[in-house]
Amino acid sequence: MNTGTEPRALHLLNTVFGFAAFRGAQEEIVGHVASGGDALVLMPTGGGKSLCYQLPALLRPGAALVISPLIALMQDQVAALKQLGVRAAFLNSTLNSKQVQETERALQSGELDLLYVAPERLMMPRMLELLAEPKIALFAIDEAHCVSQWGHDFRPEYLALSVLHERFPAVPRIALTATADPQTRDEIIRRLALEDARIFISSFDRPNIRYTIVDKEDARTQLLRFIREEHAGEAGIVYCLSRKKVDETAAWLAAQGVRALPYHAGMEAAERAANQERFQREDGVVMVATIAFGMGIDKPDVRFVAHLDLPKSIEGYYQETGRAGRDGLPADAWMAYGLGDVVQLRRMMEQSEGGEEFRRISFAKLDALLGLCETAGCRRVRLLDYFSEASAPCGNCDTCLAPPQTWDASEAARKALSCIYRTGQRFGAVHLMDVLRGKATERVSQWNHHQLNVFGAGADLDEATWRTVFRQLVALGYARPDHDAHGGLRLTETSRAVLKGEQQVEMRRAVPRRGKSPKARSGAAIPAGVDADLLARLKAWRSEQARTQSVPPYVVFHDSTLAGIAAAHPRNLDGLSVITGIGAKKLERYGPALLELLR
Ligand code: ADP
Ligand code: ZN
Repeated sequence: MNTGTEPRALHLLNTVFGFAAFRGAQEEIVGHVASGGDALVLMPTGGGKSLCYQLPALLRPGAALVISPLIALMQDQVAALKQLGVRAAFLNSTLNSKQVQETERALQSGELDLLYVAPERLMMPRMLELLAEPKIALFAIDEAHCVSQWGHDFRPEYLALSVLHERFPAVPRIALTATADPQTRDEIIRRLALEDARIFISSFDRPNIRYTIVDKEDARTQLLRFIREEHAGEAGIVYCLSRKKVDETAAWLAAQGVRALPYHAGMEAAERAANQERFQREDGVVMVATIAFGMGIDKPDVRFVAHLDLPKSIEGYYQETGRAGRDGLPADAWMAYGLGDVVQLRRMMEQSEGGEEFRRISFAKLDALLGLCETAGCRRVRLLDYFSEASAPCGNCDTCLAPPQTWDASEAARKALSCIYRTGQRFGAVHLMDVLRGKATERVSQWNHHQLNVFGAGADLDEATWRTVFRQLVALGYARPDHDAHGGLRLTETSRAVLKGEQQVEMRRAVPRRGKSPKARSGAAIPAGVDADLLARLKAWRSEQARTQSVPPYVVFHDSTLAGIAAAHPRNLDGLSVITGIGAKKLERYGPALLELLR
């Protein structure tokens, strides 16, 4: 590192950003890039990647070019930097030619610290001509996994970014991503010619996210209870598999008094954009969405992500739940999961267009996810282990907080498998449960199933228990749904050993429905010792500020900063200035009004 970089970096961190200390590897990355090195940074969402290029941009002469595919976000990012007194601008297709000219002029005359550009614009010959080497501080390639042709965020324009290195060999490059898997990492290195870059890999743990996976009963009601009890009035995302379910769920939640909006690819573009805008800019909106909603969501105060349907893989689950709690405050990842989910996903995978190999991989990924759902051990340990990261039980997931009981379900499993066999391997769990519990339904008499010896053989167990038995039989591979019929269950190669009593089966017990969860946090984002009234007033003040400047509220101050103010109750500017998130510029701009409000 250049001598003198370290104290300067810390000074800027304190005065410009208002942060007391670097987080994790930030300091090392900043030093490396500021002194001209290339870097590949792998850090989870909310890890603090932006600072890794924003600080070097201020430390090095010239403007930093930040390449980002997320045009919709550039405006907010630039607005946030301007609030800090940083000279930032963006160039993308939303600007008119006059605005473009003005920004280009500012760039050329050295009036910018950071310039955000869309990749296709950077690659225009005209733009490349404008860039003279001595005036470029660095290139930051954000969302670098977009260069991966196998990922779902692939952007062909990213492939052309390898010329940066040839054209500007002396300018340092820093590529950043929150994608954890090794294949993507290797592809980024190869395609962006980053073989000589230093690689910084952070832990992918998100300690502030609490993972909870509940047995699905009446999923909508369960969701509503979860929102009301733990996240009333807070922003969240609810993921559903189909567009139809998105629309229905959003309408239903809205009818129950939740500020819910739908989002999916089948909606009209204008309506979709309007809903996204409201989610970003208003406090406490719940977005009900398909996975089309996600990339480009930069909202730091999403307090929960709920899944009403099972994602296809652990990668998907991690990425989707990762949108909660970017600001580091407590957040929830909540999922309701049942046999129907497994049946539906397996059927989709069976019927997919992909080849045999693709199907094999899809099933393996689903199995890994089912393992996470059914584990009696710590969810986080399981999740991180999937990304090859070792960890200890976390104390902040449902299985750590209320360890599930397991029971010897061998006999129940035998009865269930036998019932599948005797009824001809064509019925779904609902009918099978009726037979086992001895219910004389129309269907039972239609098929004469009351005459089988399994009829009523399972009357000793209640319906909730049987539901978990069938679900776990499928998750554990002792039975599998038939993809042609409507989820009819069939035996597998491994069923035999259970039927013959040669194989013991351990299962998780159905979790009895609790009232409030034992460690429910009241209003998760309000830390202990914070005056809730004052916090509400601060939020109202922030909304007003945001409205008059037309920026999202979190651009003015993050929730954590407001909570810091409410807790410390400072009486003067000095007291305000030590609170995280209040740098020199914001102190000057908002300090007097805040002190007035605190008085
Ligand atoms: P990422 O891009 O990795 O998802 P961000 O750069 O948006 O994450 O940072 C996540 C949050 O952490 C932001 O609210 C940011 O202001 C905050 N943050 C980053 N670095 C620090 C730090 N050193 N101290 C305090 N807060 C930080
Ligand atoms: Zn745990």
